[in-house]
Amino acid sequence: SKLLDNLRDTVRKFLTGSSSYDKAVEDFIKELQKSLISADVNVKLVFSLTNKIKERLKNEKPPTYIERREWFIKIVYDELSNLFGGDKEPKVIPDKIPYVIMLVGVQGTGKATTAGKLAYFYKKKGFKVGLVGADVYRPAALEQLQQLGQQIGVPVYGEPGEKDVVGIAKRGVEKFLSEKMEIIIVDTAGRHGYGEEAALLEEMKNIYEAIKPDEVTLVIDASIGQKAYDLASKFNQASKIGTIIITKMDGTAKGGGALSAVAATGATIKFIGTGEKIDELEVFNPRRFVARLHHHH
Ligand code: GDP
Repeated sequence: SKLLDNLRDTVRKFLTGSSSYDKAVEDFIKELQKSLISADVNVKLVFSLTNKIKERLKNEKPPTYIERREWFIKIVYDELSNLFGGDKEPKVIPDKIPYVIMLVGVQGTGKATTAGKLAYFYKKKGFKVGLVGADVYRPAALEQLQQLGQQIGVPVYGEPGEKDVVGIAKRGVEKFLSEKMEIIIVDTAGRHGYGEEAALLEEMKNIYEAIKPDEVTLVIDASIGQKAYDLASKFNQASKIGTIIITKMDGTAKGGGALSAVAATGATIKFIGTGEKIDELEVFNPRRFVARLHHHH
C-alpha cells in the first residue's frame, strides 16, 4: 500500500536519525499524521491514534533490553494495527461444507475479478468450487466470469440473456449443490453506482432470501477512501454474516483510509485485492499488514 510505502521511509529516518529522541518523536508523529491524512484516513481517527501513541509514551517505560527508538516504533505498529482492526484474524476456511458465498458491490469495484480470485484461492486450498454469474446488468459480466473460470479450471453457471437475477442465483446454487460442490461463489447484480447503496442492499435482500448464503461479502473499491465508512456500516447492520473485501489496494493512495474506515465500523475485512491478476488477493490480517513497514530494513 502507498501509505506503508510512505511510512517506511519515515520509520527508517526515525531509527537512523541523529536528532534528539524527543525531537525525533515529535517529527515522527507529525509525519505520521501527514501520511495518514493524505491516505484519506479520517482526521478524528488520526488524532485519536496519535493521542494514544503520546499517552503510551508518557505512561509506559521501555524495557531495558530494547533500544528506546525501537520501542517507540513498536508502539506505533501496535496502534497502527489497531487502526486497521487490531488482532482480528478473519476466518477464511469455511466451518461447514457446502458453503455458499454471495458477492455484492456496486459496478466497477472489481466484483467479477474478485469472484475469480476467491474461486482460485479456495481451489488451491483443495476445495471443489463453483461460480455462479448472476450479474445481469453489465453485458460482458458473464463472459468475463466464464473466461476467469476457464483460466483456473472452475465451472461457471450462467444464463445468457436471462434477466432474473434471483432465479439465476437460485438455479446456479441448486445445480452446484447437486454436483456436490463444496464452495459456491455467487457474483450478483451490480447495476448500482455510488450513492445507490440503499438500492443495492435492498436487492441484496431478495437474492439472500432465495439462496440463503452462509456468507455475504461486500466488495469495496479502496479508492473511495473513508467514504467506505457509510457503506460498510450500513452493510454491517444489514447482514449478520457479512464480510468485506477491499479491492485495488495497489492502485490508490486512499487505501489506508478505506481500510481504517471499514475497520472502524466493526465489520470484518476478509481479503484485500492487490492487483488485477488472479492470485493478487491476500487474507487481511492487520498485524501482518502493518509489519510490512519492516520489510526493507
Ligand atoms: P465489477 O464491475 O465490479 O465486476 O468489476 P470488474 O471485476 O470487472 O473489475 C473492474 C476493473 O478493476 C477491472 O479492470 C479489474 O481488472 C480491476 N481490478 C479488480 N480488482 C483489482 C485490484 O485488486 N487491483 C487492481 N489494480 N485492479 C483491480
